[in-house]
Amino acid sequence: MNIHEYQGKEILRKYGVAVPNGKVAFSPEEAVKVAKELGSNVIVVKAQIHAGGRGKAGGVKIAKNLEEVRTYAKELLGKILVTHQTGPEGKEIKRLYIEEGSDIKKEYYLSFVLDRATSRVTLMGSEEGGMDIEEVAETSPEKIFKEVIDPVTGLLPFQARRMAFNMNIPAKLVNKASKLMLGLYQAFVEKDASILEINPLVVTGNDEVVALDAKFNFDANALYRHKDIVELRDYDEEDPKEIEASKYDLSYIPLDGNIGCMVNGAGLAMATMDTISYYGGKPANFLDVGGGATTEKVTEAFKIILSDPNVKGIFVNIFGGIMKCDVIAEGVITAAKQLGLKVPLVVRLEGTNVDLGKELLNASGLNIVAADSMADGAEKIVELVG
Ligand code: ADP
Ligand code: MG
Repeated sequence: MNIHEYQGKEILRKYGVAVPNGKVAFSPEEAVKVAKELGSNVIVVKAQIHAGGRGKAGGVKIAKNLEEVRTYAKELLGKILVTHQTGPEGKEIKRLYIEEGSDIKKEYYLSFVLDRATSRVTLMGSEEGGMDIEEVAETSPEKIFKEVIDPVTGLLPFQARRMAFNMNIPAKLVNKASKLMLGLYQAFVEKDASILEINPLVVTGNDEVVALDAKFNFDANALYRHKDIVELRDYDEEDPKEIEASKYDLSYIPLDGNIGCMVNGAGLAMATMDTISYYGGKPANFLDVGGGATTEKVTEAFKIILSDPNVKGIFVNIFGGIMKCDVIAEGVITAAKQLGLKVPLVVRLEGTNVDLGKELLNASGLNIVAADSMADGAEKIVELVG
């Protein structure tokens, strides 16, 4: 789960990490009010969307007075911002962060990520901050330093200091920087984050070390123990289909193909997507309805697939183990009757109550193409979609 920059900075403040003063605003009037309260000579107006690259895309504006704050706020609110992370459709700006301007002397890069190779939280840092870190990794990887963190000891002060030295942070600021890193690490661990990226971390004209941007990503499997984080969820930033899916506890990931898939079990779902690709098709989604899905859950899953305008055909591939084939059939029929089925549907059922499931589908009057195997079904749907 992602949150906004201003929410991330709110969390960091509680961990003693230095961030500029600022507050969220939803209208130009509010933006001006916040700017007045901040009372700073330079005010930064920042678009709040769940994507980076805002600076380059014109989503970060430096205002010299309250009138400029109003002008920029008006300009940004309601605008569709397209950055290299939003995709070509962009994201509508609905919130702004109004923040004190920092007197930046130099920008650095800092992040904590979970490294799957070592299964450890890893601190990464570079003196090449502010710009695309991917480009630094590509062209000068020797400028990115890593500290692998032992979960038993946590980030050790000497590791933080070594990182600060490697990043060429001025010697007299190394202690400030390492204290900040320890605060970030504590926030990362206590909040069950999977990513915490500070880009840029800056050194200011009056020798402060400040987190100027904050990107948090939280482990969805740990959200049950972080009610405070769940409250920060911004539904405007999420795909409505994913929101529906999460309400019914379905694992759903939209993709850019045109064959909707309804499958039970993550392994079978992956195999189904592979098989569709093998026959030259492209899946529109990954959808695992789970082992013990009810008719209601299957109905909702099918509705989610049907509501995707990119879907030009549907492949239902179910292996009934715990899941019963008649339950799947009932769900498919209910959803198709409620929403109308205008695209070809191929169904492959196998396992518990398979005959009953097939009977229900045959008697439903729906236009269904039966498949004998996963390969047969994938080939048929790819052909039907064209
Ligand atoms: P993004 O990563 O989405 O582009 P950032 O928050 O990193 O957004 O801002 C982009 C750039 O804007 C920063 O690298 C920095 O140069 C400038 N900037 C951001 N916040 C401030 C601030 N409070 N004061 C001065 N400059 C800022
Ligand atoms: Mg940034």
